[in-house]
Amino acid sequence: MRLAFIGVGHMGGPMARNLLKAGHDVRAFDLSASVLEPLISAGCRRAANANDAMQNVEAVLTMLPAGQHVRSVYLENGVLASAAPGTLLIDCSTIDIDSARAVHRAAETAGFDFLDAPVSGGVGGAEAGTLTFMCGGSESAFERARPILENMGKRIVLAGGAGAGQAAKICNNMLLAISMIGTCEAFVLGEKLGLDPQKLFDIASTSSGQCWSLTTYCPVPGPVPSSPANRGYTGGFASALMLKDLKLAQAAAQYAGAPIPLGAEAAQLYALLAAKGLGDLDFSAIIRMLRGEA
Ligand code: NAD
Repeated sequence: MRLAFIGVGHMGGPMARNLLKAGHDVRAFDLSASVLEPLISAGCRRAANANDAMQNVEAVLTMLPAGQHVRSVYLENGVLASAAPGTLLIDCSTIDIDSARAVHRAAETAGFDFLDAPVSGGVGGAEAGTLTFMCGGSESAFERARPILENMGKRIVLAGGAGAGQAAKICNNMLLAISMIGTCEAFVLGEKLGLDPQKLFDIASTSSGQCWSLTTYCPVPGPVPSSPANRGYTGGFASALMLKDLKLAQAAAQYAGAPIPLGAEAAQLYALLAAKGLGDLDFSAIIRMLRGEA
């Protein structure tokens, strides 16, 4: 297919490469030349701006930092104004539900199929083509998007109508943050009680305390050799990005009138970690703060 890709940073870059590898013709645009140039060398066509990216394409994908960028690219900088009738619009950024719904409404009014399709899986998943896409929009938009998304991910799910992809992403990541903080607290308490961390892992991972934060991203080195704790909390899912998602959960909870006391507490703890200069570390590094090290 003839595709446009706008926003080719840490995530969008490898995603666009996988579309190229699958044989698509990709027009790429990014405000930053340093991320655009390697893609042009890899075979993407260069677009001078968002308008230009939309010329002669059947679908556009966007992977931008936040809601304001998505609103700007779709509503002000020309994606909706310059897309040919019938162009499929897919936004893979993680953004606030309000912005996602605003772009949905504008796209629908202009007669376009639009899908909010945030991802989980991080840069590793983007490179390996194993992302999970959580989609919000109509079934027909989803069925049109599925074959494109399958080139970049292994799990493509329709979560519901407009904004449901963002809602699923926000709820999942809030749960992940809370479970990670709980896991870290358990290990810190265990340490203070003289419990061997491996013993605690062996017992909790096969008992009712079992969760992904424990069995895949174990916050102490040793029990799960591939977890970021074994490499000084580098790589993995940056605390700063977790904080971004927790702030989106706060905004969504206010908008929807939902009480999320533990989500609010988690946001405060990750804000504190970022204030201590540790926002680049994996989100399991919150254990360092609970130990009083950071
Ligand atoms: P990034 O900053 O590396 O990439 C975003 C790119 O968008 C940048 O290259 C920037 O120059 C470009 N951009 C900004 N405004 C633009 C505009 N108006 N026109 C064209 N390009 C523009 O960020 P990222 O890590 O790739 O994340 C992108 C999105 O994916 C975010 O919403 C993030 O929350 C989400 N996400 C990231 C990860 C991760 O591990 N990095 C995981 C899951 C989801």
